[in-house]
Amino acid sequence: MLNETVNKPLRVAIIGSGPRGMSVLERLAARLIELDSKKHVEIFLIDDGHIGTGRVWSTEQSPFLLMNTVAQEISAFSGMWDGKEAHPGNGPSFAQWWQLHHNDYSQYDGYAPRAYYGEYLLYVLSAIERNLPYSVNLHKISARVEKLDETDTSQLLYLSNNEKLLVDRSVLATGHSTNELENLEKTLSDFSDKTPSATFIKGGSVAEMDLSSIDPNQKVGIIGMGLTFYDLVAELTIGRGGQFITKEDGSMSYRPSGKEPRIYTGSRSGMPLPVRGHNQKPFNYEYKPAIFTQERALSIRQRGDVHFNRDVLPLLEAEIALVYAQ
Ligand SMILES: Cc1cc2nc3c(=O)[nH]c(=O)nc-3n(C[C@H](O)[C@H](O)[C@H](O)COP(=O)(O)OP(=O)(O)OC[C@H]3O[C@@H](n4cnc5c(N)ncnc54)[C@H](O)[C@@H]3O)c2cc1C
Repeated sequence: MLNETVNKPLRVAIIGSGPRGMSVLERLAARLIELDSKKHVEIFLIDDGHIGTGRVWSTEQSPFLLMNTVAQEISAFSGMWDGKEAHPGNGPSFAQWWQLHHNDYSQYDGYAPRAYYGEYLLYVLSAIERNLPYSVNLHKISARVEKLDETDTSQLLYLSNNEKLLVDRSVLATGHSTNELENLEKTLSDFSDKTPSATFIKGGSVAEMDLSSIDPNQKVGIIGMGLTFYDLVAELTIGRGGQFITKEDGSMSYRPSGKEPRIYTGSRSGMPLPVRGHNQKPFNYEYKPAIFTQERALSIRQRGDVHFNRDVLPLLEAEIALVYAQ
């Protein structure tokens, strides 16, 4: 009986292989290598988009779609790199990888094309696969998990390829969900269905939108002026051959290619959303709390009868106010 438990493989599903799913996999692999337990483990990495990058970081997207986090802040490896061959727990940060694999690092002020981050995540995946212990198998599954039935000890996953998968643990790393259309969006979508001259393009990631039906000079309305607005403007301007020229006095002008549509845009405030504040920090930066310290958290736990709103939230808010004031 004991032998059966020891020999029975542990089956783990990671649902979603964007940055979170990949970090879980990297950390799991690092721990399994460290433990060296010879325990048989089967890992299932499941994604209905691109395995290893997820939907957002597909390597196939336009180079004009850029990240809004600087490369120096990011690492998908859970430990510092010794400069040798990468393996779980020890690999280059995104900025280090970028400088080794592309020669345009200095041209982007740290804001990489999203496709580069996808390439980096695939590099991390291959480093993991090359270094897994013999007792650990990684299965990459391109399918959607449609349903999950749970018992006390296991989960049964129903996949879109009609297969079922029984596992001992599931990690949900499914990212942002896509919304059903409602209210204004539903009205606009219904209107365009009935109006041949109008086209409605559902909000979401620009990399997944078909913009090819937008003709030069056609009128295009963009609702909202946040990240997706900036992506759309990039795709409909420089993505169509236009150029932003920096003049001698530092100001910029736009040289159109003639393929651009006419863009009309608005937001509730009437203003474009500000970009992320300047908050550059190294990828291994850890904030050391001054108010909500580990000691204080432990003493609250020891005291017992903990209510989040009464005992924890005020300390968190004070800590946030302190950081803001600094
Ligand atoms: C256009 C865009 C740009 C962004 N840019 C930045 C940025 O520059 N910097 C930043 O920090 N953040 C950015 N973000 C936020 C981004 O969501 C996170 O950085 C990151 O991708 C979240 O990682 P994740 O693994 O949680 O989710 P995701 O990256 O969304 O990955 C989840 C994956 O799970 C898959 N999935 C979902 N449900 C299922 C299912 N039932 N079965 C199988 N697979 C499933 C999805 O298809 C997806 O591939 C951006 C987001 C978007 C949409």
